[in-house]
This record gives sequence, C-alpha cells and structure tokens, in this order.
Amino acid sequence: MSDHKLHPQTLAIRAGIHRTAENEHAEVIYPTSSYLFDSAEQAAARFAGDEAGNVYSRYTNPTVRGFEERLAALEGADAAVGTASGMAAILTSCMALLQSGDEIVCSRDVFGSTTILMSKYLGRMGIKTHYVPLTDLDAWRAACNSRTRLFFLETPSNPLCEVADIAALSALAEGVGAICAVDNCFATPALQRPLDLGAHLVIQSATKYIDGQGRCLGGAVVGAQQHIDEVIAFLRSCGPCMSPFNAWVFLKGLETLSVRMHQHSKSALELAQWLQQQKAVEKVHYAGLQDHPGHALAASQMDAFGGVLSFQVRGGKVAAWKVINSTQLLSHTANLGDAKTTIVHPATTTHGRISPEERAAAGISDGLVRVAVGLEHIEDIKADLELGLSQI
Ligand SMILES: *Cc1c(COP(=O)(O)O)cnc(C)c1O
Repeated sequence: MSDHKLHPQTLAIRAGIHRTAENEHAEVIYPTSSYLFDSAEQAAARFAGDEAGNVYSRYTNPTVRGFEERLAALEGADAAVGTASGMAAILTSCMALLQSGDEIVCSRDVFGSTTILMSKYLGRMGIKTHYVPLTDLDAWRAACNSRTRLFFLETPSNPLCEVADIAALSALAEGVGAICAVDNCFATPALQRPLDLGAHLVIQSATKYIDGQGRCLGGAVVGAQQHIDEVIAFLRSCGPCMSPFNAWVFLKGLETLSVRMHQHSKSALELAQWLQQQKAVEKVHYAGLQDHPGHALAASQMDAFGGVLSFQVRGGKVAAWKVINSTQLLSHTANLGDAKTTIVHPATTTHGRISPEERAAAGISDGLVRVAVGLEHIEDIKADLELGLSQI
C-alpha cells in the first residue's frame, strides 16, 4: 500500500464506500428495518454483542454507516454517528455525556432550538446552562466551576458572523475537565475542522450545507471513539437515528461539498463588499471582510468564510421588511445551506422568541437582514436586493 494520504476533496468522494457483489458504482440505499440471522447461534451472539453485524436499523444500517465513515474522514475524527436531525445530534450528545448536576457553558447566540433544549428541557433535569458572549474568553472562564462538563459554541455565529477562538476555548474546557463541542453547521468540514484545533466533539446539521439542496433532515456527532460510543449507546436505545434514504442523500451531498462551500463563500464575499457600498446599508456582518473584528481569527482557522452574512439597513424593521418583501428571486425562508439564496428577518423570526433586551445585548437589531448566499449568479442576487434597498 502506498502511504500517500488522500486529500479531503478525494475522501469526500471515495471514503465510506462498501460495494456489494453487484459491483454498483454509486452508493447503495438499504431501506430495511431489520436483518436476518443465519442461525440461532448467530442471533444470540449478535444480541450479546459477541459478534459484530447488523441486527436492527436503529442500531446500524449500511447506508448510514457509509455516511458516518465519510464524514468522520472529512472531520479528521475516529468516528461519527448519524442522527435524525441536527437537533437530535445535540440532544443525543447532551443525554449521552451529561447527568443531573452537571453544567454547560454555551455561547449566547446559538441556534434558537439549542437554547430551548438547554434552558427548558435540560434545565428541568437539573442541568444548568450559563450563556456567555461567544468572543469573550474571560466570560467563558468566569462561568466555569467544578460542575462544568460541556462547552457548546457555534462559529461563525448566526446571524452576526462572530468568530470564536476554537483552540483557546477547547484548551479552557480541557483545563476544567469539560468537553468542548462545536456546532460546525455554518462552516462544514470543507471550511473548518474544529477537532484539528483541539475541540472534542463536532455537531453537524446535515440538513443545511451537507445536503445543500434543502431535501431532508439529518445530523451527526463526530469525535473520539470513546465519546461516540456513548452517543451511539444512547441513540440505539432511545431512537433519534438517521434514515437510510437521508444518509444516501448526504453521502452524495458530501461529494460536492467542498466545491459548493467555496462558491458560496466567494459569492458571499462579493455580496458583502457590494452591500458595504449601498447607502441604505449601515453595517455588514461577514467574517470575510477585512474590517470584521473576527477576520484575522477566521482567516487562521477557516479555509474560506462561508455563505451566510447579515446586514443592517437604515430605518429599522420597516426598512428591513421592505427589502425582504421587495425580493422577487430570493427565497423568504429561515432555512440556509441551500443552492437557493434565502433571506430572513432574524428579530421577528429565528430570534423572535428571545426578549428585546436579550436581542439588543446580542446585537441583533430590528434593521438586521440575514442572507444565506446560494449558487445563483451573483449579479442576479444583487439585483434582487437592490429592488428594496433602492427604496430606502
Ligand atoms: C439548523 C441548525 C441546527 C439544527 O439542525 P436541524 O437539522 O434543523 O435539527 C443546529 N445548529 C445550527 C447552527 C443550525 O443552523
């Protein structure tokens, strides 16, 4: 065997393939809930865990396994496990790795459902979460105590594209005996590999860029075998696992992920620079811009800056709604990570459930508009935004 190491772009296409005797070229979908045993002896051995092999698709499914192997290769991890959605990945990680009395330190502006999971449901079970500003290392340190077991963060953040120092936060977590989990949904392994920077766990919502065309829900937890084994144990018994069809869509999505992420990033940077020149726009938030406070850090830990940006228009909510309501091409939806460009007003949708004070503290103003730049021609995206911007 040659010791030539394959590049990520190649692993995205070649890892996790298990051909059958039919010699099919594309990956196979295994739509089966259970598997046959050759003998009573084999059934007993499989149930006892003495023999490897499929038993039931809540435990293992070959298509899901292919996706898990390919994603683990891309994140540079021992192992990955597929889940029913991104939220199922976060829930499963918390259930597997935490217990009553443990505490979480979490960045303030994580995905809305993550906040609900932590504050409402984990809170009920005696797991307390402290929310801190993503980029304030001292605040993370101050929130730690002897019960801290998990750091949870997203970088770049939604919708302001703030950038966290993954290496510094991972080291801080390790120092207090906690696991540092990074929700890598916005960057994907094509642009950022948190485990290489010292993080212990990566969470993915495959629903977003890994699918890339808005077709199905899925997620994954990626990390060291010891952690993934615990996550799998919870998942097998409790059930929020990935469907084989969805795993197949994500396997195909991974093949084009790097090409897509670089094009999303290229268009987002061009759009961000154009928006900065529009007189109706007060501020543009995109880590690819030189004047963004997280630019240097993002440049050091990411290959490109991703497809999501936000901008603040003059005139608050009325103006922001005018921009959104004037679009004719862009998709008005809260989703992101699609070939289709999407636009949304965070203050009244994705971040509408948090109080106005908390929103203000997080810097999410009423004039803020978020765009997840898709793969259409950039001039068409600009022209569509100009319809509303020109009226402000
Ligand atoms: C969408 C999203 C999730 C949740 O993923 P689902 O697949 O919708 O459950 C988690 N984190 C981030 C950053 C997301 O954007």
